[in-house]
Amino acid sequence: LARDQIHNFAAGPSPLPQPVLEKAAVGLLNYDGTGIGVCELSHRGKEFKGIIEGAEANLRKLLEIPDNYAVLFSQGGGTTQFSSVFLNLLAYRRLKHASDANYAPPTIDYVVTGSWSSKAYQEAERLSIPPAPGAKPFAEPRIAATTKPAKFTTLPKADEYNFSPEAAYVYYCENETINGVEFPPAGSQSPYAFPFDRVPEGVPIVADYSSSFLSRPIPQIERHAIIYAGAQKNLGPPGVTIVIVRKDLLVDTTEAMKLGGVPAVPIQSEFKTLADNKSLYNTPPVFSIYVSALVLEYLLAERGGIAGIAETNSAKGDALYSALDEAEAKGKLRVVVKEKDARSLMNITFVIEGDREKEFLEGAEARGFRQLKGHRSVGGIRASLYNAVTLDSVKALAEYIKSF
Ligand code: PLP
Repeated sequence: LARDQIHNFAAGPSPLPQPVLEKAAVGLLNYDGTGIGVCELSHRGKEFKGIIEGAEANLRKLLEIPDNYAVLFSQGGGTTQFSSVFLNLLAYRRLKHASDANYAPPTIDYVVTGSWSSKAYQEAERLSIPPAPGAKPFAEPRIAATTKPAKFTTLPKADEYNFSPEAAYVYYCENETINGVEFPPAGSQSPYAFPFDRVPEGVPIVADYSSSFLSRPIPQIERHAIIYAGAQKNLGPPGVTIVIVRKDLLVDTTEAMKLGGVPAVPIQSEFKTLADNKSLYNTPPVFSIYVSALVLEYLLAERGGIAGIAETNSAKGDALYSALDEAEAKGKLRVVVKEKDARSLMNITFVIEGDREKEFLEGAEARGFRQLKGHRSVGGIRASLYNAVTLDSVKALAEYIKSF
C-alpha cells in the first residue's frame, strides 16, 4: 500500500508529516550536502550543533518557554522520567534542608488519573524503599487524588484533591494516552481543570505531557517546576524526551547524596549534568533529534504555529466526538469518557456494543483505517488524533462510524 491509501490512528509511535519524512530521508543519506548522513556525523560537530540548537530555539518559540527554564533533550523515554523527576527533586529537597540533622522523608503527592500516572506513582514507591530493612524510606509517595474507582474515565474535581502541606512535589499526567482523559487547558474555568491554586505555595509541580505536548499551547508553564514529554507522539520518532525544567531545580545530586537520606542518582539522570552539557553529556539520539527539529520547523512554517495546530486539533476532536455521540445515542457504541471537559483530544476511546468489535475493526481495516485497537490493558477502540493526522482522515473515520 502507499502511505496515502491509509489513515494511521496509532497511539505512538505515531505518524509524522509527509514533507518532514521526505526531508529526513534525504538527510539520512546526505546531510546538507556534506556527503555524510545525519547519523554518521559527530554529535559534537557544527552541523549537529546547528540542529539541536535550532530545535531548542523553535521549541521555545512555539511554546513560549520562559528564559528561566532549561530545555533538555534526554533519553530513556517517558518511563525514565518517572525516576529522574523523583531523584532530582529529592536531591533538591535534601540540599534545601542541608543543615537539618533530623532530615525526614518527605511526602510526594501523586494525582493518579490513568495508567501512566499509576506507573509513575509505582516507580516513586519502588524508589522510596529504604536502603536497609528497618531504615527510613527515602520518601513517602501518596495519592492526592485519583479516579481509579471510576476506572479512570473522568478527572477529579477541584475539591477532591487532598494535597499535603510540604510535599517534595506534586505530580500529574496532563493526558492519559491509554484511558483518553485530558485535563482542560491550564487556567480554564472548568471544574476539571488542574487546581494549581490548591497546591501549597512553594511545592514544585511536575507534569507528564508526553501525549499532548505540542497539540495546543501550555498557558501556565510557569506554574510548573518540570514538564516532560517523550517525542514519539507529536514531536518526532521515539528516542528523545524533552524535559523543561526551572533552572533553580538544576542541582548537584552528588552533593545531596553526600548528605545522606536520598537515593543514588545515575549521572545520566541528573538534570544539571544534561543542562551544563547542553544535552550532549553523552551521545544523544541524533536521528530522533534531527527529525524532531524538522517537525518543529514544519509546525512553525506550515501549520500556523501552536495556535494553528490547536485549532485543527479542536476541529478534529469535534468531528470525531460528535459522530461518536450520535452513534452512542443509537446504541451502537459507548464513549468511554462522558464528561466533555475531561475528554482527550489526542486519544479518543470507545467500546463497540453488541459483540461487534471484530466487525467494526475489519470494516475499518478495509477502508484504510489503521491501528485503532485499544491498548491491550483496557481493550475497546482508541483513535489517536496526533498532529500529523489530518482533519480529512478524521472526517472519513467519523463517516464510517456514523454508517456502522
Ligand atoms: N507517559 C505517557 C502519557 C505516555 O503516553 C507514555 C507512553 O506512551 C509514557 C509516559 C511512557 O513513555 P515511554 O514509552 O517513552 O517510556
